[in-house]
Amino acid sequence: MTKIDPIYVGSDAVGKLLDYVAEKGLYRFAIVADTNTYAALGQRAEAALKHKGYDVTSIVHTGDEIHADEHYLVQTLVEAPLGDLTFIAVGSGSITDITRFVSHRSGRPFIGLPTAPSVDGFTSIGAPIILAGVKTTLICQAPLAVFADIDVLANAPQRLIAAGFGDMIGKYTSLADWKMGSLVWDEPYDKEIARRTQAAIDSVVQNAEAIGKHTPEGVRALMDALIESGLCMLDFGASRPASGAEHHASHYWEMQRLKQHGRSMLHGAQVGYALTLITQQYAKIRELSRADAMNRLEGATLPDRNDELKLIRQGYGDMADDIAREHAAFLDLDEEDFDTVKQRIADHWEDIQAIAANVPTPETISGYLKQVGAPATAAALGLSPQEVDPGLIYGHYLRNRFSVIKLSRILDVPIV
Ligand SMILES: [Zn+2]
Repeated sequence: MTKIDPIYVGSDAVGKLLDYVAEKGLYRFAIVADTNTYAALGQRAEAALKHKGYDVTSIVHTGDEIHADEHYLVQTLVEAPLGDLTFIAVGSGSITDITRFVSHRSGRPFIGLPTAPSVDGFTSIGAPIILAGVKTTLICQAPLAVFADIDVLANAPQRLIAAGFGDMIGKYTSLADWKMGSLVWDEPYDKEIARRTQAAIDSVVQNAEAIGKHTPEGVRALMDALIESGLCMLDFGASRPASGAEHHASHYWEMQRLKQHGRSMLHGAQVGYALTLITQQYAKIRELSRADAMNRLEGATLPDRNDELKLIRQGYGDMADDIAREHAAFLDLDEEDFDTVKQRIADHWEDIQAIAANVPTPETISGYLKQVGAPATAAALGLSPQEVDPGLIYGHYLRNRFSVIKLSRILDVPIV
């Protein structure tokens, strides 16, 4: 298990960083930031380190939207000095991912100085990287330590704080899908990790008002929850506890956006809006009586492999082969396997209803999103009506995991 020590969230993060590097005998640093995060924290960290006599190079990226793509990855590699040093990522998601990748691939460690509570990836080992417009997650490394400054986090742009909240409450349906996957699709499940993730969701929901107002207490609750969710993924060894149908839809929108515009929307903002759609799907499952569900199961037939491949080609174009390979476990089901899945759904129907009963209504979710100023509609997010449905129709092909979308298809419950 990777040990990130310490993970500090509090006042004077730079002071804690100085204590840490002195104790560990680190002496040479490359700070990676963008112009905003450099002004918010990077400059201060650089001055404090230099004041102690350390050798510091700052790599400050420009541009209104920084992505972990070829341009910024190479730029960071070009500007980073050679030899023994420790990278310091001063920023939110993209800056951390750029630093995670470049430090790992050049055989050096990094320390995280998050500037916004916007994602749950600060403590993860995977870096989502965009190559030729396609997002792929590459296994890299976790930071040695994380120092988050509460004042800097509270002064982060509103949309980044709202995005962190969206990514966090998205785990309502990640957890529901995961539990269902363990019953129906034999997915590895860990009760303790599910409990920890649920506690992190509960904490941000209890603090929604304070998060919306950016109070230090609210922002701390959000950052603690995002860090805990990241640690749950790290301890479980996969993103399963923090990613379900809401993330699949979000990933699909993001891939389409990257293909068409070369840029996408904030991850957490997409996940929050996707959650309103996926909770709607759970509401439809709740409405099914046992008798109705059993009738539907009775009539369910194994999806035709060629029809499925055709849908994948429609949704993914020249990436279809990769997606089909990723989706093999579902595509390769034979009649007997499919009957087993149907039987398990029947055997666990009461459990599935209990899982669905724990999922909040879409109205409740919209209320939470509005409370923190996160987009609760497609229009507010900036998605056109034509872009919404494909996320639900094609998104689930991205992962070999069970979800409420998979269940709905088997039961012939409409998904759009
Ligand atoms: Zn996420």
